[in-house]
Amino acid sequence: MSELMRLAFKYKLCPNRRQEQAFRNFSGCCRFAYNALLVKEKEDYQEYLEELESRQCFSEALNEDEAKALCVKPLLNQYSFNYALKRLKEEYPFLKEYCHSQVLQQKVMDLYEAFKKFFKGKGGYPKFKKRHSDNGFRYPQGFKVDEDNGRIFLPKIGYVRYRNSRKIEGIPKNVTVRQEADGWYASIQCEFELNNHVIVPNLNTAIGIDMGVKRFLTLSDGNFIESLETKLKPLENKIALLQRRIKHKVKGSNNIKKAYLKLALLHKKKADIRNNFLHQASTLMVKNHDLIVIEDLKIKNMSKSGKGTIDNPGKNVKAKSGLNRSVLNEAWHKFFTYLEYKLKLKGGILIKVDPKHTSQTCPQCGHISKDNRKEQAIFKCVKCGYEAHADVNAAQNILKRAGLARIACQANLTRGRQQEPAEAYNSSTIVV
Ligand SMILES: [Zn+2]
Repeated sequence: MSELMRLAFKYKLCPNRRQEQAFRNFSGCCRFAYNALLVKEKEDYQEYLEELESRQCFSEALNEDEAKALCVKPLLNQYSFNYALKRLKEEYPFLKEYCHSQVLQQKVMDLYEAFKKFFKGKGGYPKFKKRHSDNGFRYPQGFKVDEDNGRIFLPKIGYVRYRNSRKIEGIPKNVTVRQEADGWYASIQCEFELNNHVIVPNLNTAIGIDMGVKRFLTLSDGNFIESLETKLKPLENKIALLQRRIKHKVKGSNNIKKAYLKLALLHKKKADIRNNFLHQASTLMVKNHDLIVIEDLKIKNMSKSGKGTIDNPGKNVKAKSGLNRSVLNEAWHKFFTYLEYKLKLKGGILIKVDPKHTSQTCPQCGHISKDNRKEQAIFKCVKCGYEAHADVNAAQNILKRAGLARIACQANLTRGRQQEPAEAYNSSTIVV
């Protein structure tokens, strides 16, 4: 049994006026259904909470778990959600008229999943969808990709042209249409089987990578890739200038609307450049190396709130460095994800090692001290006097650490392959 993997291919759509209106109608209907069912669920949940509270108040002997067992928990299954959607469609016929039934169903399943997550204690209570932040919908099937003619068939909307930027691979499983600052995009999720043959990676190409601020990454063989930040500076200045100008514009005026659109486009451009850079860097790494060792940085998914508001350089330096930090973390996280799936496709190995003291350990005598790295760029052992470039030294330490980790990893790898491919299904989708 070979392992299955899912990748998403993203294309820019070129809808005509009628199609764009249909996109908006679809999104609007989805949002309406989502929010309407959320209201209903909220009422049910409120009732449940009240019952729970009253039971606990009246009989103090009951503990929370016992009280919970007595109360009727809001029914949570796919059928109840589908039934609720059916009722909603009867009540509001425009949903049938302006949207596709499967698209609506997908949106309702999203809500179901959100609730499932919430009751498992893994996520917050589902929130209402807002008009400006959520324009999109998903087809689970029925769409067709006509690559030769650069168009995609969406049920009830018809053939929509798209910019054929790259060839699609695997079997298309679903398609999501979403609005971004500069237009509509289709993200086609495809599934394909990973090569089942056991590939013996060329261990001579094994490399350690040290992630950094000044240099984006440094390799254990001394090569490095410069940070992107200096290249982004002009764009960032433009954004800052525009933001200052917006402050002086009249709220609600056409002028400010135009400025906000321009701002959104600039942010999008910046994100695109960054993403492109991460793809190029990871592709290069995977092309040259079969075995890559990185630090196991526990990077949390940074929250996206407040991103635009602190973006005011010159004034609040501390907040700004904090922002840079989170952006950097996000970039590293993405880079590692890209590395991982690209290596997987190639049949290579990614090893994560404990990052503790990698920049402070002397490779000659093993002495660990903060003093080994008094200067940012130079590593100098206080015990034996060994000297090296600090980042290269860290990368070499990272590679060295994999010596112990490698065997364990390979054992994991084979074990993972023998198991059912369920894990591949669950792994988060990566946008190419
Ligand atoms: Zn030493």
